[in-house]
Amino acid sequence: MKKTYVLGLLILLLVQCNMKKQVSKIPVEAYSGTDLGLTFQQDLIQFKVFSPKAEKILFNIYQDNESEEPIYMLNLAKQNDIWVTRFSKEYEQLYYTIKVFYEGKWLSETVDPYVKMTSANGKRGFIGNPNKFSPPNWKDEKFAEIPSRDAIIYELHVRDFSVAQNSGIQQKGKFLAFTETDTKNSFGAETGLSHIKNLGVTHIHLLPFFDYASIDETQSLDDQYNWGYDPQNYNTPEGSYSTDPTKPEARVVELKQAIQAIHKQGLGVVMDVVYNHTFNTENSSFENTYPGYYFRKNADSTLSNASGCGNETASDQVMFQKFMIESLKFWAKEYKIDGFRFDLMGIHDIETMNKIAAELKNINPYVLLYGEGWTAGGSPLPDSLRALKKNTFKLTDVAAFSDDIRDGIKGSVFEATSPGLVNGGKGKEESVKFGIVGNINHPQIDFKKADYSNSAWAAEPFQSINYVSCHDNLTLYDKLKETNPTSSEEEILAMQKLALGIVLTSQGIPFLHAGSEFLRSKNGVENSYKSPDKINQIDWDLISKNEELLKDVQKLIEIRKQHKAFAFESAEQVRAGLKFLNTPQNNVIAYELNGNLVDDTSSKIVVIINAQRRAIKFPIDFLNLKPIYGDPKIGKTDATIPKTSMVIFAN
Ligand code: CA
Repeated sequence: MKKTYVLGLLILLLVQCNMKKQVSKIPVEAYSGTDLGLTFQQDLIQFKVFSPKAEKILFNIYQDNESEEPIYMLNLAKQNDIWVTRFSKEYEQLYYTIKVFYEGKWLSETVDPYVKMTSANGKRGFIGNPNKFSPPNWKDEKFAEIPSRDAIIYELHVRDFSVAQNSGIQQKGKFLAFTETDTKNSFGAETGLSHIKNLGVTHIHLLPFFDYASIDETQSLDDQYNWGYDPQNYNTPEGSYSTDPTKPEARVVELKQAIQAIHKQGLGVVMDVVYNHTFNTENSSFENTYPGYYFRKNADSTLSNASGCGNETASDQVMFQKFMIESLKFWAKEYKIDGFRFDLMGIHDIETMNKIAAELKNINPYVLLYGEGWTAGGSPLPDSLRALKKNTFKLTDVAAFSDDIRDGIKGSVFEATSPGLVNGGKGKEESVKFGIVGNINHPQIDFKKADYSNSAWAAEPFQSINYVSCHDNLTLYDKLKETNPTSSEEEILAMQKLALGIVLTSQGIPFLHAGSEFLRSKNGVENSYKSPDKINQIDWDLISKNEELLKDVQKLIEIRKQHKAFAFESAEQVRAGLKFLNTPQNNVIAYELNGNLVDDTSSKIVVIINAQRRAIKFPIDFLNLKPIYGDPKIGKTDATIPKTSMVIFAN
């Protein structure tokens, strides 16, 4: 008896050890169904949740968001790794939570990871189908259908867009602000969506608008602000951007109205997604349905933290990979989102990103996918497996941000006073040239002299997102002021113009931080993620004060759209059609584009970037060439290029 007991205990221990080992690896067969969460069937509503090791799961139904006691409690039945219940449609429009009994105790009451509609602050799920809550004509809504190589991205925060008094927009800080057109600033100039349309960009990239945690949706929003990189419910829109967070349908309908209005202007919508970490670990819906599964761990079993936010998700776990894919497909299909920007994409594994791209391309061949090819800390998953910038060439149909061109142009984001090519830096030519070719391999790039990369990282030019500033770090204007405190406003303006000019003429996908086209400032605040509106809001009167810069950016965008040679189709074409010209002076870059390769209206285009603080003479054969941008003085055999400026010639 005793022996058997000991043996039994030993087996139990072995099984338990084995289970633990399995939890930190891939523990289960993937569930192949696509019906996790609520499904609305003909006569019944079904709920499913993945929780292989739960001992019991309760589905609580509440009358509303406030009531303390559930009106019904349903026991879920176990089917392999999935728990399921089906219930009457009478419960539609009520609220729900689940509670999981695991390893002898109840975990915290939670919504499920797949929840698509919630009460205020995302605490309870709403038994409702988002498909039933749409504005008029939504069923005809289509993707924007803009090819990646034509994309010009404009990065914007929902609240910053409209909250300033001088936005002229009524629905301040709300999704509905995007439905207002012909809005005006104090000087009568167009603001809001009309401004963005007139600027000529193709996609509006919105900072996180899934349900995030840091704003209390039930309180006044006057003194609350956040960028939103703190995910709570991935498949639910953020409540504070709706006119009534207590009505689960309001945020669903109003977000669709915003997307509809943006599409109506011919623009695409890119959603900033943050699958790399959750705001809470212990209180996340993942941890309260299957503890220990969804987050990566260090060898000592502590949570790893490549996000710098306390945890990192595990896309290498089959059911988190599945979650990401299904969540993205849901946003694409239900909300007609045209593209996704992956925060700290370097945390996700390459296989997951490639599967995502393939699945989304099936839904929308024009889908635009890009991300940050880095992390905020070390990860236990080997570098070779993760979607880091250096591995971008292993990704299909996914682009990465080029910090090479960003910091080459205006200096490091890590040192406020370090300058780049346009603001007095030295030796930045090669980093900028690397960006100009779209971070692909090009025979004229000397990688030894480039700041951040020893080799090409993009296989194709569209895999490079070219930018000089974004919501992170100082705005371009603030950075230029910081690096050049004694320069005049006129000189700062010239630097800003040149910086944006380089971004808008480079191979790859240009990306603009909202307001950089009119000298947006955040008063030198470098990390404004929770700074008040007065720092973050877009001051729309700057449009009228900096009309010259705005007109210039509009013109550059127009030139880019007119001349296909600024966006060659392949790396091969860039290597064949982009030749750097000999430039003996420092801080001067010049190159020639062969338009014949892409049926450009011009067979020859010459771009000259003079980042010196004095005019230079540049030898040029003017046979048939005319300046189409900039202000050169044409001599007999050379052109005088004004200080801190760009000139474009074309035939
Ligand atoms: Ca929220």
